[in-house]
Amino acid sequence: MSELDADLLVVGAGPAGVAAAVMASSLRMTAVVVEAEQVGAKLRSIGALENVPGSWSAGPELAKAFAADLARHQKLGRISLLSGRAVEVVGHDDRAEVTLKDGRVLTAPTVVVATGVTTLGPADVEWIDSPNTKWLPPLWRATADDLEGGRIVVLGADRPLGTWLRAHPETAVHFDVLYPATDGYKTDEVADETRVRLDLVDRVTVAPVRDGFRITAHHAVGEAHTFVVETVLTNMGSKPAAIPGLFVSTDGYCPPNEQHPRVLVAGDLKGAKMQRIAVAMGDGSRAALAPYYQAQAVPG
Ligand SMILES: Cc1cc2nc3c(=O)[nH]c(=O)nc-3n(C[C@H](O)[C@H](O)[C@H](O)COP(=O)(O)OP(=O)(O)OC[C@H]3O[C@@H](n4cnc5c(N)ncnc54)[C@H](O)[C@@H]3O)c2cc1C
Repeated sequence: MSELDADLLVVGAGPAGVAAAVMASSLRMTAVVVEAEQVGAKLRSIGALENVPGSWSAGPELAKAFAADLARHQKLGRISLLSGRAVEVVGHDDRAEVTLKDGRVLTAPTVVVATGVTTLGPADVEWIDSPNTKWLPPLWRATADDLEGGRIVVLGADRPLGTWLRAHPETAVHFDVLYPATDGYKTDEVADETRVRLDLVDRVTVAPVRDGFRITAHHAVGEAHTFVVETVLTNMGSKPAAIPGLFVSTDGYCPPNEQHPRVLVAGDLKGAKMQRIAVAMGDGSRAALAPYYQAQAVPG
C-alpha cells in the first residue's frame, strides 16, 4: 500500500470531481485530481445560473471558486491537481488504477470518475458526412464577440440554440440551422426568431475549403443546396465522456452500481437525467464519503 499515490483518485475537475476532492480533503484523506482541460471547464461557458444554492448567478464565477477551493486544499498538502487526460481506469482486488494519455499510471484504493458528458461531433451522427472534419466547435461555447455580424451554419437544433439567443438578445447574427427530423420538436422555441433560418435536412455534407467550409444540404424533396460559409458550429447534444475500463450501458452512460467496487462514478456521467451542477456536487461528495465510511467501518 506504500506505493499508492493518494487515498483517492478523482478524474475530472467539474462540480462532481471538485466536490469529491474537497470532501476527501476535509476528511483528512489525500486526493489526486486529474483534469484534461481546466477546473470547471464546462461551467466557464454558462452565462446565467439560477439553480445553484449560494447565490451563484454565472458559471465562470463558480468555476473560479472551485479552482480557489482546490488551491486552498493543495496548500494544505492534501490535494494535488494533475493536468492530463485519463485513458483507462481499472479496479483490482487491492487498488484502483488510472492511466493517463502520457503513460503515467496513478494508484489509490478508490477512484471517483466524474468526466461528465462531451459534445457530439460530426463523426458521431449519421446525418452528417464530413470525412475530413471530425470536430467542429460547439455553439454553446461561442461568445457574442466570436459570432457578432456573422452568417453561421449551425448543425443540429438542440436546446442550447434558444439558450444562446436569449442570452445574447442584442447580438447581430444569422444562424442557418440545418437539423434532422429527430430535432424537429426542439425548434418551436426559436420558430419566431428573426436571426434564425430553420432548414430541415435529410443529410449534410461538410467539406473544408480555403475560406471556410462548403456545405451541401440534402433535402427529402428537391435539389441539394450548396454554399460556402466561414463558420460552422455544432449543436447536436452530448454523449457521455466514458473512459475505457468503465462499465458502459447501451445508452453510453456508466451506471454506478455496475462498476468495480473500487471505481465510483459521479455526476453527469451516471445517466442522461439529473444533469445539474448541484446534483453533481452532491454525487461527488457522496462518492468521497463512501470509501471513508468503509475504511472506518461505520454502518450506514
Ligand atoms: C450550455 C450548458 C448550460 C448549462 N446550464 C446549467 C444550469 O444553468 N444549471 C445547472 O445546474 N446545470 C447546467 N448545465 C449542466 C451542468 O454543467 C452539468 O450538470 C455539470 O457541469 C456536471 O458536472 P460534472 O462534474 O458531472 O461534469 P463536468 O462539469 O462536465 O466536468 C467533467 C470534467 O471532466 C474533465 N474530463 C473529461 N474527460 C476527462 C478525461 N478523460 N480525463 C481527465 N479529465 C476529463 C472535463 O474537462 C471536465 O472539466 C449546463 C450545461 C451546459 C453544457
